Amino acid sequence: MKIGFIGLGKMGGAIAANLVRAQHDVVVWNRSPEKARDLVAAGAVLAASPKAAASDREIVITMLADDAALEAVLSGAEGILAGLRTDALHISMSTISVATADRVASEHIARGQRFLSTPVFGRPDAAATAKLFVVAAGTNADFQKASPLFGSISQRVFYVGETPSRANLVKLCGNFLILSAIEAMGEAMTLAQKGGISKKQLLEVMIGTLFDSPVYRNYGAVLVEERFKPAGFAAPLGLKDMRLVGQSAEALRVPMPLLNILRDHLLQTIGTEGEDVDWSAIARTIAKNGGL
Ligand code: NAP
Repeated sequence: MKIGFIGLGKMGGAIAANLVRAQHDVVVWNRSPEKARDLVAAGAVLAASPKAAASDREIVITMLADDAALEAVLSGAEGILAGLRTDALHISMSTISVATADRVASEHIARGQRFLSTPVFGRPDAAATAKLFVVAAGTNADFQKASPLFGSISQRVFYVGETPSRANLVKLCGNFLILSAIEAMGEAMTLAQKGGISKKQLLEVMIGTLFDSPVYRNYGAVLVEERFKPAGFAAPLGLKDMRLVGQSAEALRVPMPLLNILRDHLLQTIGTEGEDVDWSAIARTIAKNGGL
């Protein structure tokens, strides 16, 4: 397929590489063009603007930090909206707000363009090995059109409905659950350690009994080994996600008391550890708060 790919960060760079490897015709754009170097060496073509990366493409994929980054590449004379031809499809993989997904969908529809929202679960290593989980929403026809691409980047795809922002709400719920699990592990590990039991030993028992799931296994190992820098998923992006969860909770009138604790622990962690720390480092903050 003729694909435009915009956003070559930790996730986007790895996903785009898999699309190039799968022999798609890929044009790329990134705000910092040096991140395209390896992709160009592998066969991708570097475009001069988001508009240029979108024009003459059947599909343009975006994988950007947040709502503001997506807005920045969409609008303006050099933006995607100006370049994407009528009937072409924009696939947004970024973790963005429900409100922004709704707005972007309307903007595309008003121009006769199409929009599919497909946020993903999985860290950069899962992106590199094509082991992501994709959560997709949009019209069935657009989902069918995009499906072959998902085979090159993921291990499983979930289709959750016709309204694109539904996928974003599922993704935000998922990230809230992941960070809640990290919070719980951080608290339990601190308690265990202060009582003389190592984090490793506690995790071994928990994974071997009641908590044998990828989140406990993978993040549990990160916590045991304290692999917090460089960040796989940077804490400021996690903070952005908790903000977006809060926006949806407010809009839908759902009290989420745990969310405030997660948000505060992320803020405390960024404040003490710096910006390039993994969001799972809230466990270190919890340990420090517990006197370790
Ligand atoms: P990242 O490495 O920080 O990459 C962010 C990308 O957004 C870069 O290409 C960056 O360009 C671009 N960007 C940021 N602000 C921009 C702006 N104003 N205008 C244009 N481009 C801008 O982040 P990531 O880890 O790949 O995450 C990307 C998305 O995937 C986020 O929505 C994140 O929540 C989600 N996600 C991440 C993970 C994970 O584990 N990392 C897992 C699942 C989902 P530059 O290169 O120029 O900075």
